Amino acid sequence: MGMKVLVIGGGGREHALVWKLRQSPRVSQVLCAPGNGGICEEAECAPVDVRNLDALVELAIRLRPDLTVVGPELPLTLGVADEFARRGLPVFGPTQAAAQLESSKSFAKEFMQRHQVPTPHYAICTSADEVKHSLAHFHPPIVVKADGLAAGKGVVIAPTKEEAAAVAGDMLSGKLLGEAGAKVVLEEFLEGEELSFLVMSDGERVAPLAASQDHKRVGDGDTGANTGGMGAYSTDSLLDPQMREWLLTHVARPVVAGMRAEDAEYRGILYCGLMMTARGPMVLEFNCRFGDPETQAILMRLDSDLVDALEAAIEGRVSDGDFKWSADAGVCVVVAAGGYPGAYESGKQISGLEEAAKLEGVKVFHAGTSRRDGAFYTAGGRVLGVSARGAELEAAVGRAYSAAEKIRFEGMHYRKDIAARALKPAAR
Ligand code: AMP
Repeated sequence: MGMKVLVIGGGGREHALVWKLRQSPRVSQVLCAPGNGGICEEAECAPVDVRNLDALVELAIRLRPDLTVVGPELPLTLGVADEFARRGLPVFGPTQAAAQLESSKSFAKEFMQRHQVPTPHYAICTSADEVKHSLAHFHPPIVVKADGLAAGKGVVIAPTKEEAAAVAGDMLSGKLLGEAGAKVVLEEFLEGEELSFLVMSDGERVAPLAASQDHKRVGDGDTGANTGGMGAYSTDSLLDPQMREWLLTHVARPVVAGMRAEDAEYRGILYCGLMMTARGPMVLEFNCRFGDPETQAILMRLDSDLVDALEAAIEGRVSDGDFKWSADAGVCVVVAAGGYPGAYESGKQISGLEEAAKLEGVKVFHAGTSRRDGAFYTAGGRVLGVSARGAELEAAVGRAYSAAEKIRFEGMHYRKDIAARALKPAAR
């Protein structure tokens, strides 16, 4: 009998995980909760809310998966890994205590300071008075961050001290983000290239994943509002072996050793959001799970068995070679609903998916879709993650855009410049 694997979540990242897990010869069944229109074509889906830990535990007790992989941060920060572990259900993802690296920016900043992990200068404030006092030590622009989870809306870059004080005040009063803003972190603004550096840890050792770059703004040329991510790409050229070793030595390993020393052993994916500055790499944030849409781009390049790797983390035997990456490039172009990241409508019929899927090296991951009578409809802000692999980045990007051009739904939009900076270094 092959393995039964349960994936928790229902976005593009989870579709990519389901797709890759199904390729393992060791896996006979993939389940997903709640999944989405596209995932339900490839996995058995159970309509369970990812915030409902009782329902997730109940589902797992009923289905008895050999492995559960948790996609989104919310269930992890609520303690889903703790609940599963307590019942002897094998689960991939950090405990609630370990997930604090993502769920509390003030925790992450103080932790980095305790363990000498490079991060921008900061101040943690709980009142308007503290903000006013601390601002004296900053030069504009000033980055203002809500302490808690805010689904990408918790970071504001304020051009003046007055604006920083105003937005920090709105966060602290609960007006802007509710509880997530009860504490704010003021941070020095850094310039440089951003890099998503993910590692997998078993609590002690780490194995690096392929590096990637996300595109957070909605518009071409990094303009407009922040989003959950409009696209990503991954190539070997993003991170040379020397810099990778530096990041392992000065960021990944000290974080994992520090969490262990503080009795919050970190098992799972540690996502390090970095700014590569003139002063060296600095950590902007940690996430406690696979990135979205980075995972879609990265998994296009993974040549080894994902289940083997995830098991190594659970069983405490992670090693450097757990992932075998192709030299090919991977890219993901997010196709979003009209209006996203603001208010958007759902229920628009999607056409062209079959034509897109026929293209070589292309896989269309569903992020926010539903399926009815054999047709697909939009059901979220980020609708699809059109992904491709190619021997060169240019070829991968070309394939992804050829596929995106085949797809139609009312109001759809996507960025036309995913990976453009890597293709034209001279134009930076
Ligand atoms: P975070 O959620 O902390 O990664 O912040 C979201 C985005 O805000 C990052 O991807 C950066 O583009 C930007 N950002 C965050 N912190 C800084 C900083 N200290 N300096 C410049 N940009 C930042």
